[in-house]
Amino acid sequence: MPLISKFDPWRSGLCTCPPKLTFNPYTGCDHQCIYCYASSYIPNFKDCRLKKDLLLTLRREAAKLNGETVSIANSSDPYPRIETSEGLTRRCLEILVESNCRIQIITKSNVVARDDDLLSKVPATVALTITTDDDSLAKIIEPFAPLPSQRIKATQDLINSGIPVSVRIDPIIPNLNDNPKRLMATLASIGVKHITSSTYKAKPDNWHKLTQALPQVMEKIKPLYFQQGERVGGSTLLPKEYRYRILKSIREDAIVCGMQFGVCREGFPQLNTASCDGSWLLPKLDGE
Ligand code: SF4
Repeated sequence: MPLISKFDPWRSGLCTCPPKLTFNPYTGCDHQCIYCYASSYIPNFKDCRLKKDLLLTLRREAAKLNGETVSIANSSDPYPRIETSEGLTRRCLEILVESNCRIQIITKSNVVARDDDLLSKVPATVALTITTDDDSLAKIIEPFAPLPSQRIKATQDLINSGIPVSVRIDPIIPNLNDNPKRLMATLASIGVKHITSSTYKAKPDNWHKLTQALPQVMEKIKPLYFQQGERVGGSTLLPKEYRYRILKSIREDAIVCGMQFGVCREGFPQLNTASCDGSWLLPKLDGE
């Protein structure tokens, strides 16, 4: 099983990402977001662990890259809490910046700004996930991830270092964080050029955790999911028109703020004003 593989988000037919490769430095993630999708697939997901012979294998595979975009990471965060002591993602970046590739980082951690020196050496972009600008709400739904205020600060630091940043407002949960107007105005004011958004997709595991943490909110939206919603793959989604309405409204606010917009695995490619994952922000390679 190669470390760097073709990006194929759970074989979702709804994905509109341009072709890219993906690589997860860690198995599992210790941020423990209660809406996490990956924890339904990967056993003991919250016990973040290292992969055997990771650096050796990565060095071998990275030597074969030929200008592809490597997205880090899509099944787990490349900056879990243990990255501060292990430094594994940093060591992977040291290898990748010596190879012929572009790098897209997807994370919920401000620690990514530590690696701006490496990310400046290759065409790179960072997608920071910021679901809300309310630190106290984030403490409930993303209990061990850095606070949104720290992520906004990291966004600013990266942009100041010349690294383009997009922000994922994902997942959107009705009656909880479905009006991110203020957050988007803040992001636009610090130079963010792209927003990607996506509605919450219910799975038994994450629905249970959300219901325990936010019983009133989840009770209220339960019929939307389980009476009127639609099944896609192994998930239950909000009704199509409802999703469209929320995402269209976020899109309009993003455009008003001067930002591009994309949706993630929703089936509404017509809402994308640029490549959905923000990869259009990647600086061009020499000769392009
Ligand atoms: S950061 Fe991502 S992978 Fe980690 S727990 Fe949260 S949603 Fe799951």
